[in-house]
Amino acid sequence: MSESKCVFCRIINKIDKEADILHEDDEIIIIKDKFPVSENHILVLPKEHITNAKYLSANHLNLVEKMNEAGINKMKELNADLNDLRSGFNWPPLNTINHLHQHFISPSSNMSLIRKIIFSHKNFFFVDAAYILKRLRR
Ligand SMILES: [Zn+2]
Ligand SMILES: [Zn+2]
Repeated sequence: MSESKCVFCRIINKIDKEADILHEDDEIIIIKDKFPVSENHILVLPKEHITNAKYLSANHLNLVEKMNEAGINKMKELNADLNDLRSGFNWPPLNTINHLHQHFISPSSNMSLIRKIIFSHKNFFFVDAAYILKRLRR
């Protein structure tokens, strides 16, 4: 997929102005999920077009740490319940948008059953930052 067609690149490059941008700096952007599955559902994206978590390398360690911290801080700011937080990355082939993004969802217990299955670390298609960081440090 070319970057001009990528929905997240279009938000990052301000071609699509509809998105609810909660935070932006030179490396990352935080937006509200267009289709929230719970009261608080945000996405942290790198500005660099990285297709998915499989394309990350050891060079991205700081970026992934930064994304994770920024997401947690934003959820705190939103007064989301961090004890009921689900956060992570869709793992191919179950990533619907081919631009790396980390989901932060709270309260996760409010999600519908199907969402609970999709956003569960018990399946292999949704992994948390700790899993990715461990993989990159290998
Ligand atoms: Zn993109
Ligand atoms: Zn996703």
